[in-house]
Amino acid sequence: MSSIQPIQRPTLQNFYKPYDVIVVGGGISGTAIARDAAQRGLKVLLTEKGDFGSGTTAYSGRLIWGGIRYLENGEIPLVRKLLNERQYMLKNAPHMVRPLALGVPVYEGAKRQKWYLEPGMALYDVLARLTSKAGVPFHRMYGKKKFAKEFQGLDPTGLKGGFKFYEALVHMPERLCVENAVDAQRHGATVMNHAQVTAIMEENQKATGVQIKDLESGETLLAKGKVVINAAGPWVDDVLKTAVTQLPKKVMGIQGSHIFVRQFPGGPKHGLYVEARQDKRPYFTIPWQEYYLIGTTEAHHKADLDRLAATQQEVDYLLSETNRIFPQANLDKSKIIYSYAGVRPTPYVDKSKTFQRVTRDHLTHDHGKHEGLHNLISIIGGKISAHRGLGEEAVNYVSRNFGLQAGKNSTRKAPLPGGEGIKDINAYKASEIPAAAEKFEVPKKTIDHLIDLYGSRYSKVLKLTEENPVWKKPLCPEALDIQAQVIYAVRQEFARTTADVLLRRTGTALRENVGLNAAEITAELIGKELGWTDKKVQQDKEAFIRFVKKRMLPSTP
Ligand SMILES: Cc1cc2nc3c(=O)[nH]c(=O)nc-3n(C[C@H](O)[C@H](O)[C@H](O)COP(=O)(O)OP(=O)(O)OC[C@H]3O[C@@H](n4cnc5c(N)ncnc54)[C@H](O)[C@@H]3O)c2cc1C
Repeated sequence: MSSIQPIQRPTLQNFYKPYDVIVVGGGISGTAIARDAAQRGLKVLLTEKGDFGSGTTAYSGRLIWGGIRYLENGEIPLVRKLLNERQYMLKNAPHMVRPLALGVPVYEGAKRQKWYLEPGMALYDVLARLTSKAGVPFHRMYGKKKFAKEFQGLDPTGLKGGFKFYEALVHMPERLCVENAVDAQRHGATVMNHAQVTAIMEENQKATGVQIKDLESGETLLAKGKVVINAAGPWVDDVLKTAVTQLPKKVMGIQGSHIFVRQFPGGPKHGLYVEARQDKRPYFTIPWQEYYLIGTTEAHHKADLDRLAATQQEVDYLLSETNRIFPQANLDKSKIIYSYAGVRPTPYVDKSKTFQRVTRDHLTHDHGKHEGLHNLISIIGGKISAHRGLGEEAVNYVSRNFGLQAGKNSTRKAPLPGGEGIKDINAYKASEIPAAAEKFEVPKKTIDHLIDLYGSRYSKVLKLTEENPVWKKPLCPEALDIQAQVIYAVRQEFARTTADVLLRRTGTALRENVGLNAAEITAELIGKELGWTDKKVQQDKEAFIRFVKKRMLPSTP
């Protein structure tokens, strides 16, 4: 008898009755909508062509932030909304979302000088305080000496001082999607990854459902729904093309890339938000585990959305700007652990607008009001930071406009799975780790790592080791992840492939060696759980290796 029963993959039976809401796309926006709708009692189908969180959400800067930069565009309501959401996330997912100190150095000749930044910083604090009394500390302004001491490693030439302020970081937004999907399923939603919407069905100028291709079985499924919500991020237009009614282009993709390098000696302990010399755009250097996450870039996206990788030009830009600001960094391509690229699903606008002027708020486009195809809406834009609120707004919209009886929203106060029972993450770890290490005979640092990933659900992962003690073994030398996490991912978190597990459940592939040393054992463990043949195990392992080599390692020598 296994300690945790697997969640069954949806079958044809799940599709007999019509859904209230069909959500297309399991990125942060789609999973948040599905969670909200399911919590409010609606009958929900969430369908994702790849894996939850495998689109843009996985290739972001991982910040849960109020968007101080948007004050430059006068987007005060957006900043206020994002600050609210930051506070909800700090409370509801304390295992995954943590405060982050950021420095903003000011150099001679920079576009943004202290006199320009100070009012924005003060306004940001006021907006944050309107949100919550607790929150994160106020900003501070420093002279040159103190700033250089606080943010070590910076080039001192022309440094005039700077600011320290606070945001928050989600170390794995991929898991944020998974946890939203888990919660949606827990509240009755049908949740399906590796299931692509291939057509929006229509009758009498109304969307009536979707046709889905189950990419595992090859089966075609038909799902009827009262409302279809297209939350396919940068693929929104591709989904719209599957309707018979011709619908206009809604998304203008802006590509952005990041590189990951090992933290260099004398490098910063806090994050930095620095104006690039080449184009005066601000970019981030953020301590992330033992690495720095450096980015981002901005360029019109041209490549196939399903094959994105950081371009040579983007990598060179990030390397040269980092070497300029941290003279001891001495970065070159050989120091890049991996890189990645994503496309922001921003609204389609005239190309003459600069990227920074394009709103980063999300829009709800009602195709009934605009193009006469009723019961279909598209979500354009959306940020990880704002996902919970986006979910709530989308459900409010469909219940107001399409006569659905959604209950009261509760996600403001409801912890995400794993956030239950944690008020202060450090106190929680201090009280849990010693006893759990003794009970399960697992190193303390492993338990610490599991709490970072699963919050208070870490013990469910460890409980699996009572079923098979071999599952206490690490997946590879480069990470603290253990075999039990693979089993948990398959049984409880909808993982179906090696890539699902290593990239979006454990994060083993987001470290040195990008999970290559863990691929074989992971594929074997999944294969045993799902009853794969040896050939299928081999194929799945190879598919993962191909993916990381093409998408994450192209810029390394
Ligand atoms: C470089 C970069 C840095 C960023 N940094 C930050 C940051 O620090 N903080 C922040 O808050 N935001 C950040 N963002 C913005 C944020 O990441 C995105 O706006 C957000 O992740 C978009 O989520 P989404 O769910 O709309 O799209 P996605 O995550 O792309 O999800 C859409 C999903 O739809 C699926 N799909 C597509 N077609 C179909 C189909 N036919 N059937 C079923 N499913 C389908 C895709 O597989 C995909 O998983 C950044 C974005 C980029 C590009």
